[in-house]
Amino acid sequence: MRVIVAGGAGFIGSHLCDALLALGYHVTALDNFITGSSKNVAHHSSNPNFRLIEHDVTQPLPDIECDAVFNLASPASPEGYGRYPLETMYTNAFGTLHTLELAHRYGSRYLLTSTSEVYGDPLVHPQPETYWGNVNPVGPRSCYDEGKRFAEALVFNFGQQKGLDYRIVRIFNTYGPRNHPEDGRVIPNFLTQALAGKPITVYGDGSQTRSFCFVSDLVEGLIRMMFTDAASHQVVNLGNPTEFTVSDLALQVQSITGTRSPIEHLPARPEEIAQRKPDIQKALSLLNWAPNINLETGLMETVAWLKATLQAPSPAPAPNSAR
Ligand code: NAD
Ligand code: UDP
Repeated sequence: MRVIVAGGAGFIGSHLCDALLALGYHVTALDNFITGSSKNVAHHSSNPNFRLIEHDVTQPLPDIECDAVFNLASPASPEGYGRYPLETMYTNAFGTLHTLELAHRYGSRYLLTSTSEVYGDPLVHPQPETYWGNVNPVGPRSCYDEGKRFAEALVFNFGQQKGLDYRIVRIFNTYGPRNHPEDGRVIPNFLTQALAGKPITVYGDGSQTRSFCFVSDLVEGLIRMMFTDAASHQVVNLGNPTEFTVSDLALQVQSITGTRSPIEHLPARPEEIAQRKPDIQKALSLLNWAPNINLETGLMETVAWLKATLQAPSPAPAPNSAR
């Protein structure tokens, strides 16, 4: 099985490469390192079943024979896509087109990683796949939300018109080792702050909710989604349905790290999403998938990784600073 992972040097992509290689597959990761780093897959550099190609998927792709294409390429954190709004839109548009064309050329399966952000600030809770969303097309998150909505529409219409074996996954907030400490997402922010004894920065009153999925659970779901025949042409949520307020999370981080960091409230982000929680009934029935790792266990594993990374002699690079 020859598998392409676009965005394979990112946080989730690198764990996906690990899991695919462990299954004995041949893996080609494509990445332009805008928010990822070759360091995330450096442990595979001498593996003959793995290769990393530096390539921007907004540009036409080289011919690479493949049986399955996972498209994870896209900045993903509010700070990441906030810094690169056009790159985010071009990647979700042209990058999706180019990866679709490659999959079509070789009769390969195709999986798009979309996002819970397609539901915007949801008016339905929890969010099932049938909900169409509540998105501002000209807001601070629009490059990402509308970029992913366009990517979904492109995959759907390409698949219908050209007969591609595609599937779409809407990923909900995912965390774990290799989630870059400086990418601005809430778990790396809170853990880094707690370990440094700095204030834990809660934006707004902290009553907004999220549901956090550990990366190994997510990767298992992505692999089932790609290789389950019944998942062809389906759109499926993957995430952990246990919902926490951001204030709950801050308290849990204080307790797990044993920090004396105080909680500091900063202004709310513009157009904050008030609540988010996946309905995972479809993943359960179609893939027999549900997450196994609870927040406490996942946070402890992430803390262990973060401590090792922050103490390493050559610190992890900031996003877009490393090859
Ligand atoms: P990440 O930023 O760590 O990974 C994305 C990777 O894509 C990076 O390595 C980046 O360099 C690469 N990339 C971006 N533009 C590219 C381009 N034009 N050409 C080649 N490579 C490019 O983020 P992540 O959290 O690992 O997210 C992976 C995917 O999952 C993204 O598509 C994201 O939208 C989706 N997702 C993630 C989450 C989450 O909570 N982590 C939630 C919803 C959706
Ligand atoms: N957040 C926070 N403090 C931080 C970073 C994030 O309170 O230092 C909040 C943010 O306002 C949002 C939630 O945590 O309500 C999740 O933010 P993240 O950037 O991880 O992802 P989002 O789900 O907003 O895309």
